Amino acid sequence: MTGAILSINSGSSSIKFGLFETGDGHVQYAAGGKLEKIGISPRLDVRDRAGDVIATREWVGKADLTHETLLEDLFGWAQEHLPHRPIAAVGHRVVHGGTGFTAPVLVDEAILQQLEGLCALAPLHQPHNLAAIRAIARLAPCLPQVACFDTAFHAAMPDVATRLPIPRKYGEQGIRRYGFHGLSYEYIAQALQEAHPALAGGRVIAAHLGNGASMCAMHGGRSVDTTMGFTALDGLVMGTRSGALDPGAVLHLVQHMGLSAAEAEALLYRESGLLGLSGLSSDIRTLHASDDPHAAQALESFAWSAARQAAGLCVSLGGLDTLVFTAGIGENDAAMRAAIVDRLGWLGAALDEDANRRHAAVISSAQSQVNVLVIPTDEEVMIARHTQRLLAGSG
Ligand code: AMP
Repeated sequence: MTGAILSINSGSSSIKFGLFETGDGHVQYAAGGKLEKIGISPRLDVRDRAGDVIATREWVGKADLTHETLLEDLFGWAQEHLPHRPIAAVGHRVVHGGTGFTAPVLVDEAILQQLEGLCALAPLHQPHNLAAIRAIARLAPCLPQVACFDTAFHAAMPDVATRLPIPRKYGEQGIRRYGFHGLSYEYIAQALQEAHPALAGGRVIAAHLGNGASMCAMHGGRSVDTTMGFTALDGLVMGTRSGALDPGAVLHLVQHMGLSAAEAEALLYRESGLLGLSGLSSDIRTLHASDDPHAAQALESFAWSAARQAAGLCVSLGGLDTLVFTAGIGENDAAMRAAIVDRLGWLGAALDEDANRRHAAVISSAQSQVNVLVIPTDEEVMIARHTQRLLAGSG
């Protein structure tokens, strides 16, 4: 294909995007950025290939601007930015593909409707992912749009990692473990193969620690287990999501403490995790800066749950050779990385403090029996690669 690919990763309060030129079967980053603080005071920052800011825009006090309106602006800007190479296709991150979608797909109305049927399984993300596809379809009805699923990378996990221990008839209706953050893990698997081919074939845990946080056990570059399950609520303590908790606690909240199902959903997705435990913030930087003991407890819970989940994944791997940190916290928070690795010391994992402080690519000490790496993730390039490959195959 010729022309540029626009990758869109539309979340609840931000839209990340990347514009990629295509050629020779490869995609190359041209520009990209983030529209953030949607619903508060939207702000757009666009950076070029060198990382220099080439455009900024603020919508001060415009809390009412919808994702759709902002996307229209963004799409207009993107089309102007590379006038000599018009946008040939748009790729989207779509969080949930259910059992029906285990590979990227060219979206049409029928597919969009099927994906809308999965919104209840990812209420924080899926509606925004799909709204972005609808917004672009309104602006450019003939432009090919490709949905790339976060669940797809985990689709071939061993059966035992997909089963939920409830009556079989529910499993047959799709109530099973799917796993998420798959585009990030697929990128990490490819980046690891390029940078450290000897490690890529081994037993690897990738830790995607951002507002949403999960881990993936990879063997030979394939997902064999992951901490998120049926929804993106399971597993680690997150920014505002609870992570794993006794399902009996949810029943108790609903049956005996008067919460409606909608209130329980809000509690578990938006009011729990670091925010709920600290009573202060979901942002880990704010918690580090605070002297409130509840902030310290929230950080302790985050590290404890991450190390505990990593230890669980070791069962699926039969040990651990390499631990990779990625995403906002994983790439930038040396103190949190140290707190997690410290709790995995019994595995023989140890950090080089100086390398960790510098956010070096390899942060394990020479004596460490586990390689500990930091690899910045790039979901947008993964979306662009999939979009190009799919359209090259179908065109
Ligand atoms: P993400 O969802 O990947 O954008 O990650 C968001 C999380 O990363 C938030 O908790 C941020 O506080 C954290 N984060 C982002 N940048 C930094 C940084 N420079 N230092 C520490 N934490 C950071």
